Amino acid sequence: MRYLFAALLLLVTALSQGKEVAFTFDDAPRKATGYFDGPTRAKTLLQVLETHEIPQVAFFANTSNLTGERLERLRRYGDAGHIIANHSHTHPNFNTQELQAYIDDVNEADQILRDFPTFKPWFRFPFLREGNTAAKRNGMRKFLDEHGYINAYITLNNYDWYIESLFQEAVAEGKRVDLDRLRRFYLDVMIAGIEYYDQMAIQHIGRSPKHILLMHEMDISALFVGDLADALRNRGWSIISPEEAYTDDIASYRTPSVLKYNAGRIGEIAYDKGQKTDLWHETLNEGYLRARFTAEVLTPETAPAGSRVKTPRAE
Ligand SMILES: [Zn+2]
Repeated sequence: MRYLFAALLLLVTALSQGKEVAFTFDDAPRKATGYFDGPTRAKTLLQVLETHEIPQVAFFANTSNLTGERLERLRRYGDAGHIIANHSHTHPNFNTQELQAYIDDVNEADQILRDFPTFKPWFRFPFLREGNTAAKRNGMRKFLDEHGYINAYITLNNYDWYIESLFQEAVAEGKRVDLDRLRRFYLDVMIAGIEYYDQMAIQHIGRSPKHILLMHEMDISALFVGDLADALRNRGWSIISPEEAYTDDIASYRTPSVLKYNAGRIGEIAYDKGQKTDLWHETLNEGYLRARFTAEVLTPETAPAGSRVKTPRAE
């Protein structure tokens, strides 16, 4: 009886422990010439993080266009206390680039980013591609180890960058975009992906790890990251710092597999445990997102009153 009670207590403790996630933004400072200009994006994003009590996120920077307003924008993120880390100089595709050229590119970004006061030697692989041959994969592991770097993996993958491109395309074409609809669409897609990879983690490692959410430094992130934090907290999640997230045991996991495409750390573990399909959630698909964006977000052209024809909709 005593053992049963202890087991029950353990179970209740495990269930009541909230899920945890850290927020990270890649490709900073990304081009900003659409809905927001660069300074407005930075100001909006920083304000939202502050008002939603998210004290620290990480920005993974590309340095090849780091001048003028874009340099200023990255400095603002660092000055606000957020981590600045390495996402390479030119965002190369490791599947098509040789190891030494790839290392040179990462080194170049390192030289530029080290001056930022909140710099961390964390490397986020562009496209999450970690080497399509054992030699390249091992070469980058050795390089990172020797230079005091960690592989700043993600656990929660998504195509937020594609939602942004659909949004910016609509803005550029002068279409009316209802921001409330866009918010609902964004939250629905992001949460579906987050819950999918969390379930995959529970299935393969038996627990919900300290997660790292992939996002990008873009207008929809600035617009909706606070709503995303609210929605996650309402579902029992808490937002933690990236530093805390990378203390999870899965941080030391090194896949024995050579993967041309990588769905993230949970996807790697699942693959190594025998799951060979469905490593990418259905929302990680351009056609899927475009169809839903068109149906759910774009405001239909306003027809003169009374002339609208109600068409039956197939469910
Ligand atoms: Zn990137």
